[in-house]
Amino acid sequence: MEEENVEWMKNAEWVKNHLDSMNVDSYWSPDGMGFLLKKVEDKQLVLVRCINHYTVLRSISGLKTLVFDLGYSISDEDIEFDDVPINSADAERINDSYKQIIVNNWKCEGCDFPIVEMDASSVFPTLIETTELVDDDGNMVEYDWWGMVLLCPSCGHETTMTIENFTNSHGEVLLHRIKDGNTIYQAHTRQVLVDLVESGEYDASKFCLLGSTSPSGEKIPLWMQGQYCEMSILEGGE
Ligand SMILES: [Zn+2]
Repeated sequence: MEEENVEWMKNAEWVKNHLDSMNVDSYWSPDGMGFLLKKVEDKQLVLVRCINHYTVLRSISGLKTLVFDLGYSISDEDIEFDDVPINSADAERINDSYKQIIVNNWKCEGCDFPIVEMDASSVFPTLIETTELVDDDGNMVEYDWWGMVLLCPSCGHETTMTIENFTNSHGEVLLHRIKDGNTIYQAHTRQVLVDLVESGEYDASKFCLLGSTSPSGEKIPLWMQGQYCEMSILEGGE
């Protein structure tokens, strides 16, 4: 058996679970593997994009063999080839363009409204649930799962997005803030802070350093702890 086939076979169960869980009309691009698949029917996949390089093509051929055993088939009649990337930045660009196709295809489960078009300007990191996990030393530790809850403007359905997915659909800025009472604490990149200082717009009285909780003592995400934030008061309050 060829090497690529062995690699895929090792992950047979993971591939099967992934394909089974995909909705019809959704896409899949294993990170950095150089191809994009779409599920068009229950057991039918289409190769949409792929880097025209023999390692990618051989890998796809291995995947085809595996999915055939799992009862799926992959068609490549309408495939669009991408040129072999000239450097790692180019490879990243291609990977990002595949990711963008996937993200643009995310829809509200209630009415198919595109997730990327949903307004997130009043969405803040929300504690979804706290679970107990075993850490590396075998101790039980609490783990907080944060998400971003988007409201569909068309049907009112709420979509809870993981932090990673939200970053892909709406960027990082809205993730780096919390709302405490009627105050928003927005963390900035170092570049934004530098620009504020250089332009003379920096006003220390409007900034606050966050500790392990919000100023009123509420839980905040780990990535907000220790952030130097700009405060703004919400109009109308709460
Ligand atoms: Zn909807």
